Amino acid sequence: MDNKYYGINTVCTHTGELKDTQFKGAVSPLYMSTSYAFEDVEVKRYPRYFNTPNQVALAKKMAALEHGEAALIFGSGMAAISTSLLAFLHSGDHVVFQNTLYGGTSNFIIEEFPKFGIEFSFTNGFSPESFEAEIKDNTKVIYIETPSNPLLTITDLKAVAEICRKHNLVSMIDNTFASPVNQNPIDFGIDVVIHSATKYMGGHSDILAGTVISTEAHIDTVFQMAKNFGGSLSDYTVWLLERSIKTMGLRVKAQNKNAKKIAKYLENHPDVEKVYYPGLKSHPDHDLAKSQMKGYGGMLSFELKEGLDASTFQKKLKLIKSSMSLAGVESTIITPTLTSHALLSPEDREKQGIKDNLMRFSVGIEEKEDIIQDIEQALKEINNSEVRI
Ligand SMILES: *Cc1c(COP(=O)(O)O)cnc(C)c1O
Repeated sequence: MDNKYYGINTVCTHTGELKDTQFKGAVSPLYMSTSYAFEDVEVKRYPRYFNTPNQVALAKKMAALEHGEAALIFGSGMAAISTSLLAFLHSGDHVVFQNTLYGGTSNFIIEEFPKFGIEFSFTNGFSPESFEAEIKDNTKVIYIETPSNPLLTITDLKAVAEICRKHNLVSMIDNTFASPVNQNPIDFGIDVVIHSATKYMGGHSDILAGTVISTEAHIDTVFQMAKNFGGSLSDYTVWLLERSIKTMGLRVKAQNKNAKKIAKYLENHPDVEKVYYPGLKSHPDHDLAKSQMKGYGGMLSFELKEGLDASTFQKKLKLIKSSMSLAGVESTIITPTLTSHALLSPEDREKQGIKDNLMRFSVGIEEKEDIIQDIEQALKEINNSEVRI
């Protein structure tokens, strides 16, 4: 099915499904073979070659979801990120990274790139000029993340894509936070789109996976590296991921709605200092977000008023869980200073605007009234017990 003719929920449900010609079952059959007959076949099928029936079918769904030509499915988001970056970069090349990246990506760059002789710079902000300023003669790739983690800043997709075309660079985005439901960077000229499928695509906090979507040519470049690195996903999990994506449109749209309501509630709350959510008119990049996103996503961050302690607040929550991961159907909350961004120095955190009492909230699909009620009772508790510090 061609996604140009179908909306998101139809693509989620049908595109790339395998037909059960043997028994006419309703869902894609699962082929677990690691060994396929060799005679009379054009392709050698093997899970690490990313070409088993289930891998190929899910890749079609991924490509359709992101309006790309082709895709590969990986064993984790980091496998997708590391393989894609190294596929386009060689010793002596330079790459420009947005200054706020997923922690695992920053660690990969800082710990591994020196071993490969790959040079890198981090931008000093999010404006198109801050990316262009870092370009050198040997720059090959610009890599962005929007909305960013944890402050939900927005990077201009069209502007970055144009800079890359002007300088003959490959543009890459980690589109995990938005999900393909809310943002399709290829429509704005971005070349390579990466997801940690562990997040909104899986959506139930029980699958580790990643994907890369691009043109046939770029995906072949990634594949040449991927088959050597061996980061493919087992067919059983591929099958589970296909099943999960069927409800991605429904889940993410519900999370968008909840997050917007909760962001507004928090913004009006006397105990809350600041809310970061691109769907709020008060967000500095609200207009830019509106121009490139279909929904504002299920992630938001907020700071409590000075004197109210974030950790104590989280201990008082009954429904919302304190948990590192994100994008599941259940609401989860963390303090980035103590978790995802703990490895950054206090100076670097301050430079990025990450305060100690900042909390990152992954909004789930529960009834919004119940989520708000939980926040309300926890705030009351910490006010009454006078844990003001
Ligand atoms: C979780 C995450 C990753 C890494 O994905 P894994 O599946 O955990 O390897 C990369 N980028 C973003 C934005 C993430 O949230």
